[in-house]
Amino acid sequence: PYEVLVVGGGPAGAAAAIYAARKGLRTGIVADKFGGQVAETVGIENFISVKATEGPKLVANLEAHVRDYEVDIMDNQKAVKLASDGLFELELASGAKLRSRTVLLATGARWREMNVPGEKEYRGKGVAYCPHCDGPLFKGKRVAVIGGGNSGIEAAIDLANIVEHVTVLEFDSKLRADDVLQRKAASMGNIKIITQAMTTEVTGDGTRVNGLNYTDRATGESHHIALAGIFVQIGLVPNAEWLKGTVDLTPRGEIIVDERGQTSVPGVFAAGDVTNSPYKQIIIAMGSGANASLGAFDYLIRHSDD
Ligand code: FAD
Repeated sequence: PYEVLVVGGGPAGAAAAIYAARKGLRTGIVADKFGGQVAETVGIENFISVKATEGPKLVANLEAHVRDYEVDIMDNQKAVKLASDGLFELELASGAKLRSRTVLLATGARWREMNVPGEKEYRGKGVAYCPHCDGPLFKGKRVAVIGGGNSGIEAAIDLANIVEHVTVLEFDSKLRADDVLQRKAASMGNIKIITQAMTTEVTGDGTRVNGLNYTDRATGESHHIALAGIFVQIGLVPNAEWLKGTVDLTPRGEIIVDERGQTSVPGVFAAGDVTNSPYKQIIIAMGSGANASLGAFDYLIRHSDD
């Protein structure tokens, strides 16, 4: 069996695997798609000590760094079930079963999509999901934020400092964000909030976004707004559905971890975007992967007779 079996090949999983291997532990890493969200990212300018890089380049570096160690990389393999009979047993979609003394879950998250025409086509060409990452690309331009929850209003406030104007579109008849955020947004001169707005289409000129269409749910009328960018902020979905009933999750489906990255099941650790860590970024995911891996090491030296 493995001593540390990492599930997920994003920044959290890669960091965890390297830390485990450096402790001399028998380490395996199972990834549906090595690289995770980073593989889909274009420009990265907040990975500290690297002024600017690109997703695929960072993924290649991650993989090269992991391959420098004795780590079994099992790419294009999806985990579907985690069970325990003394040892942990991870079942893959292929039917294969892997056994390990500890498991480190780093399956990340995915942005919830609007599922309207144009969204997929213009993803990365004006349709964005991460204001910390892509906000500066829209400096001086007009953008929309879809979603009036906390993340949507935080995004609007953040973006309003950079872009010319922000329109927030909320489906409901009122915003769901905290009052303090709503007041802050209202105090900024360049944020407009439209409620009862159902986004129906992302429009573009074939290469880039040029606006969106929405229906006013009160009147049924359709409207068009001219925009350079659209930030979709309708939620981040943790890739933890398959762990329901196995480890404790928050109501939003995130894996609950303690300060050592341990879940509600001793010997099962988690790191990165799939956990209840409040901020989701590459550098944070890597740090939490390293942290959880050290947590697993600590667990193993204390349970060496099991
Ligand atoms: P992920 O990167 O999501 O990796 C999860 C891994 O788990 C993947 O390998 C996936 O295939 C695998 N997996 C999932 N489910 C299973 C399963 N059941 N079985 C096996 N494997 C599974 N952050 C920044 O710091 N700077 C940026 O500029 C930036 N830009 C971004 C741009 C975009 C478009 C997106 C989407 C995100 C961006 N982020 C950025 C956020 C950053 O990418 C994430 O915070 C980070 O990738 C989280 O790392 P992770 O390892 O926790 O998860």
